[in-house]
Amino acid sequence: MRRFSIRLVLLLAVSFAVGLLLATYLVVTVPGHASEPGENEPVATEPDTKFDGRRAYDYLKQVVALGPRPSGSAGMRAQQKLLAAHFRAQGGKVSFQAFRHRHPIDGSTVPMANLFVQWHPQRKQRILLCAHYDTRPFPDRDKVNPRGRFVGANDGGSGVALLMELGHVAARLKGRYGIDFVLFDGEEFVFSDRDPYFVGSEYFARSYAGNPPSFRYRWGVLFDMVADTDLQLFQEVNSTRWRDTRPLVNDIWNVARQLGVTEFVARPKYEIRDDHLKLRQIGRIPTCDLIDFDYPWWHTEGDTPEHCSAESLDKVGRVIVAWLRQLK
Ligand code: ZN
Repeated sequence: MRRFSIRLVLLLAVSFAVGLLLATYLVVTVPGHASEPGENEPVATEPDTKFDGRRAYDYLKQVVALGPRPSGSAGMRAQQKLLAAHFRAQGGKVSFQAFRHRHPIDGSTVPMANLFVQWHPQRKQRILLCAHYDTRPFPDRDKVNPRGRFVGANDGGSGVALLMELGHVAARLKGRYGIDFVLFDGEEFVFSDRDPYFVGSEYFARSYAGNPPSFRYRWGVLFDMVADTDLQLFQEVNSTRWRDTRPLVNDIWNVARQLGVTEFVARPKYEIRDDHLKLRQIGRIPTCDLIDFDYPWWHTEGDTPEHCSAESLDKVGRVIVAWLRQLK
């Protein structure tokens, strides 16, 4: 058994080496196959256009290392600085949409800001890719320490990491659509369930509806908790129920099926209140929620990078990149 496998490995190695030599020979000798960049070169072979799940996971760890990032905190300010520099270095047009919010407990004024990144800003038809980047003030579902430290690796960190990696792709995406990233502040600056959620997405949607820009969003996709080691992406109930977002959901899950990413399960399971409600209801932007709600560490101290994975980020990223590339 052992010997057989060694022989097999040797045989495979030799065939691989011969194949490689042959391929090199063909590439070098076939006329017109030189590697100078041209218009017809497939996009996938350009550097940095492939979604890299491992790099995305490194981004997730980098963001979590800043500590808790609730609205108005030092951690949030550090994150804003890091992200602005990151997206600018990738070639994005970065701006902040600042607003103020009343602290639900002490009534003080909390400065908040959505982070806005545009790719190919001249394109008038646009796609909105978004996530929240604030973390919940406390892990209030933690049975041991509900007033402990919450770093939101999946809930907060995963959406940020996904967009940080997607920036490499968005900068080079061809076609008629431009892409905007928005990272919402104040998604869950909540201390009790009566406190308002989705403050940042509501502010963004009101300003889009009330003071319309010169472009329109064709579709929006919201990412929330997309890095769970045990990834299962059911369709979110509202996103499948609304007539204007149903085709979007079908398209994304069809792309996943074509790629063989079986973690995208093509049936609805949870009805989730999230930032997509404000975007669609106030902004009239057809937006679906891409969320894995089967996450045992949700709102606990255990929402840490160990319970997230590069593979899960890679699967979501690859599906979204393929979906963006097939848009007509
Ligand atoms: Zn949350």
